[in-house]
Amino acid sequence: MFEYVAEILELAKAKNPGETEFLQTVQEIVESLAPVLEKEPKYRQAKILERMIEPERIITFRVPWVDDKGEVQVNRGYRIEMNGALGPYKGGLRFHPSVNLSILKFLAFEQVLKNSLTTLPMGGGKGGSDFNPKGKSNNEVMHFCQSFMSELFRHIGPNTDVPAGDIGVGAREIGFLFGQYKKLRNEYSGVLTGKGIGWGGSLLRTEATGYGSVYFASEMVGQNGGSLSGKTCLVSGSGNVAQYTVEKLIEIGAKVLTMSDSSGFIYDQAGFDSEKLSFIKELKNVRRGRINEYADKFKGSEFKAADRSLDHNPLWSIKANCAFPSATQNEIRGKDADNLMSNGIELVCEGSNMSTDYEGVQKFLNSSILYSPGKASNAGGVAVSGLEMSQNSLRVGWTREEVDNRLKIIMKSIHKSCVDAADKYGTAGNYVHGANIAGFIKVADAMLDQGVV
Ligand code: NDP
Repeated sequence: MFEYVAEILELAKAKNPGETEFLQTVQEIVESLAPVLEKEPKYRQAKILERMIEPERIITFRVPWVDDKGEVQVNRGYRIEMNGALGPYKGGLRFHPSVNLSILKFLAFEQVLKNSLTTLPMGGGKGGSDFNPKGKSNNEVMHFCQSFMSELFRHIGPNTDVPAGDIGVGAREIGFLFGQYKKLRNEYSGVLTGKGIGWGGSLLRTEATGYGSVYFASEMVGQNGGSLSGKTCLVSGSGNVAQYTVEKLIEIGAKVLTMSDSSGFIYDQAGFDSEKLSFIKELKNVRRGRINEYADKFKGSEFKAADRSLDHNPLWSIKANCAFPSATQNEIRGKDADNLMSNGIELVCEGSNMSTDYEGVQKFLNSSILYSPGKASNAGGVAVSGLEMSQNSLRVGWTREEVDNRLKIIMKSIHKSCVDAADKYGTAGNYVHGANIAGFIKVADAMLDQGVV
């Protein structure tokens, strides 16, 4: 079987040269599926994996727009429709200068398995642009979003492909994108999720990824009768996922020591409280400022500037019980994994997608710490997006409590699926294997039923 896994990896390399992030996720996923492929030859015979690593459709397009100085700017737009076996393609849009095909294909492949884990009827996709919203006026962001949607609208729809937010795409961008879609289609439908509460959005969608991540971590420690209350926690990022991870951790009595952005991180030994978090929300969501302002405002906290020449991030060298990486991919490297473990970390729960690089993942898996991959622990966001789609179709709005209860049930069930799948295939306690196997089987069986399409 290892030969077959090696063949798939060779095939992926030959067909996707230079796509580092995509190849990284293919390697992690395919390696962990070896026991299933061995036991169930039907997947190999039907070339399920060969088909899954080839996106069903990739759309790339020009996004021209005019900036505030009257100059023409040109960005590149993408939508990867990766796998539609379980439902309409579903996955976020990322606006960040680093966006390229490799990053979006890795995110789309992860999304396929993640959406499967939620048990909701959603296929997987991802999209975005190399547009950088930082430093742009609201007007510029609106013009960009309108131009982006002027092409994307013909490829998406409530029963076809339903995008949402990701890095650089929050409530403001979803509003502009939805407005343009509605105008072009002359149709008011659930084509995007993460919409405003007053116009089709679901209560708790904003909070869902961060809250879900903490619910998942609670399930992990709860297995041995433990709890997160009183634990010290490192959180990276200060965007949507990080803010609501911190909010829920504070609520359940954990002590959060750090937050960050791409300019560096804050270390607050006294711990974040709701007043400090409100400051971060206003700084990031309204004023769109840099995180060093926090250290000026709250005495006793320190700001440490990012140093890209280092082979590690000093945020992960701070002693704590738990880590919640919630910024971007590969933010924990091999050396960071060593630093976390030598300080006695007990749990690493990924909020960002593929937070840990391949070397770091192997180190965590060879240790006794609890480690969950993003596709399991950050699935709460897309789960509530799925609930937003249901509410839009039914033309109803559920209460915050109702959505929160459903989110808790979904995170509990994802946790159980991971644990059961890892047990069944002989790698008990390995959440990477559990998540990949449980997510894969559902998609693969649907593909078998639907024929070679
Ligand atoms: P946001 O844009 O709201 O926030 C991203 C945060 O990460 C910011 O603090 C940003 O800092 C920081 N960041 C981004 N890129 C880098 C980088 N290269 N180096 C250091 N810091 C960086 O995004 P989200 O919170 O929505 O997303 C965070 C992660 O969670 C992503 O991996 C995303 O794919 C994943 N995710 C998000 C979901 C959601 O519902 N939003 C759902 C599931 C996963 P700065 O502002 O300086 O760039």
